[in-house]
Amino acid sequence: MARPVLLVKSGGAAGFDEWRGLLAGPLPQLEVRWWDDPGVAAERVRYAAVWDPEPGRLARLPALRAVFGVAAGVDLIAGDPAYPRHVPLVRLVAPETTQRMGEYLCWAALSLVKDARRMAIAQSRAVWDYSEAPGKAPDFTLGILGLGGLGQGCAPMLQAVGFKVIGWSRTRKQVPGVESYAEAELPAFLARCRILVCLLPATPETAGMLNAALFAQLPHGALLVQAGRGSQTVLPDVLAALDSGQLGGAVLDVFEPEPLPDGHPAWSHPKLTLTPHVGSLPTRAERAVQLARNILAFERGDALPTLYDPAKGY
Ligand code: NAP
Repeated sequence: MARPVLLVKSGGAAGFDEWRGLLAGPLPQLEVRWWDDPGVAAERVRYAAVWDPEPGRLARLPALRAVFGVAAGVDLIAGDPAYPRHVPLVRLVAPETTQRMGEYLCWAALSLVKDARRMAIAQSRAVWDYSEAPGKAPDFTLGILGLGGLGQGCAPMLQAVGFKVIGWSRTRKQVPGVESYAEAELPAFLARCRILVCLLPATPETAGMLNAALFAQLPHGALLVQAGRGSQTVLPDVLAALDSGQLGGAVLDVFEPEPLPDGHPAWSHPKLTLTPHVGSLPTRAERAVQLARNILAFERGDALPTLYDPAKGY
């Protein structure tokens, strides 16, 4: 009898052979096939592992038991109005996701503290711009907006560098050495953040949250790291806050749309460092190990800590 199918849509058709090679060993009970393979009958598809399925496609798979994201954020899957709501959706957070995000946040926060953007501009002009940034990590309280799985995992790395880490989330958390603020305490949290790191998921509530009104609640000259989702950033407000000095500098990894359009003033702003959504991108091999773990755990009926909750929207 033909094995049930796992459809994969991530990295384009060119990436599929690698996915199949990585998944065939740990998942011998499944046939791994490409998303657009015309030879796959819809009734045979038990699972899908996807990043950005075309809206409506998942709803046309009658035997689908679960959908597995290939990244921590699944907004491009859950945002499908036709998503079959009875089918569990599982986010992918590998140990390497946290390690890589922790590295990114340490790099971004330190580059802001060290004024690395100013030095990079000076170098590009062959200018020996000798002046040392006065601050050091322990002088900065760094607040994580969205102290969830990633934020809690990254906090010890930021603390090891010397930052005093605090966090904000819908519900209060118990994280060693991290003062946790709950949803209603946002103003008190923001008032303390000399560095604000956003790790929020994309939801209707978080859309447009990084705006002028929020920046005005930060200490003057606060530094911003945005590694959540582009829908949360009001980019003109970021640029205005950088120009006025309310924000002292920013590192942005996520945008809407991506890529950032040609000619956008954010490309060249002297106080802004831009990265192309690479905050945490585990390799395909790293993600395949976690994907196989998630599928096997689902088949055993184990609780999945990264199960998407449609009621919360993340
Ligand atoms: P998670 O474990 O679900 O954590 C999300 C956190 O945000 C939770 O603490 C949640 O509060 C909080 N939250 C959500 N909505 C909120 C609201 N309206 N008000 C207050 N707090 C709210 O997710 P994660 O694994 O840490 O990932 C977080 C996000 O990081 C992803 O969704 C993705 O957007 C982003 N990400 C980006 C990259 C990149 O390369 N740039 C890579 C990976 C992930 P509760 O705990 O109280 O529910």
